[in-house]
Amino acid sequence: MVFSKGLIITVAPTGNVVSRAANPHLPVTPEEIATDVYRCYLAGASVAHLHARDAGGRPTGDPALFKEIVCRIREKCDIVIQLSTGPRGGKSAAERAACLALEPEMASLATGSSNFSTTVNYNPPDLIKKLAREMKARGIKPEIEVFDLSALEQAIYLAGKGLLMEPLHVNLVLHVPGSLRGTPRNLFYLVESIPPGWTWTVSGIGSSHRRLSALGLALGGHVRTGIEDVPTLGQDRPASNLELVEWVAGLANAYGRVPATPAEARAILSLPGLIDEGSGWDS
Ligand code: MG
Repeated sequence: MVFSKGLIITVAPTGNVVSRAANPHLPVTPEEIATDVYRCYLAGASVAHLHARDAGGRPTGDPALFKEIVCRIREKCDIVIQLSTGPRGGKSAAERAACLALEPEMASLATGSSNFSTTVNYNPPDLIKKLAREMKARGIKPEIEVFDLSALEQAIYLAGKGLLMEPLHVNLVLHVPGSLRGTPRNLFYLVESIPPGWTWTVSGIGSSHRRLSALGLALGGHVRTGIEDVPTLGQDRPASNLELVEWVAGLANAYGRVPATPAEARAILSLPGLIDEGSGWDS
């Protein structure tokens, strides 16, 4: 496992689930998302995990919307861009892969299926392989989304087959209702199962966010935050993305970690740098 003093704070500002009715701070339009991401960048975030919403606020994999979001962010800062290929943004493999044509530096790749409280987190092997092949062909680094140990094992298996390039970066997503709970034991078990040289971050969902962020910092991992993961703080008070990033940055200081700049995050993640980002953003 790699321990770096530099802390990658990933902000996941929007997601696919939280509504503005539930959290008035939620950025929905490309302009709102870009403005919010820039605020978070100034507060220490170095990666932005992005979803797109349509005019009705519904999740969509529409590459035109993704492109507008990213172009607006790129006008403001050099934060690492990571686009979601998750199942709620599109049902078919083509819909989920559509944003990859934009050739972002990173994209999410869930390498296993699991149950949430009312839905299936549906990621069958053929779909995973299709997304993995396209990311590899386009030079996009996947972030492996791990909701339980089998998803990590699947990533190790696919890396062994040459479909995923090592060192991989893993996001441990814990405490989704109905899925693996965010206990220290569960986090330790997953962290200890990550191959040497890989990097990892932790997404502590909801009420697990504080303790899992602290444990992640102490163990040398990185931390994801944002309204996608933490719609409310404390007594059901809606959190803003900026407030969440500031909280993680403050906690990092207490643990002797320093928020990484985007350039430092690229080095930690073995990303080639913006010069090789591809032509997808031109226009
Ligand atoms: Mg997501």
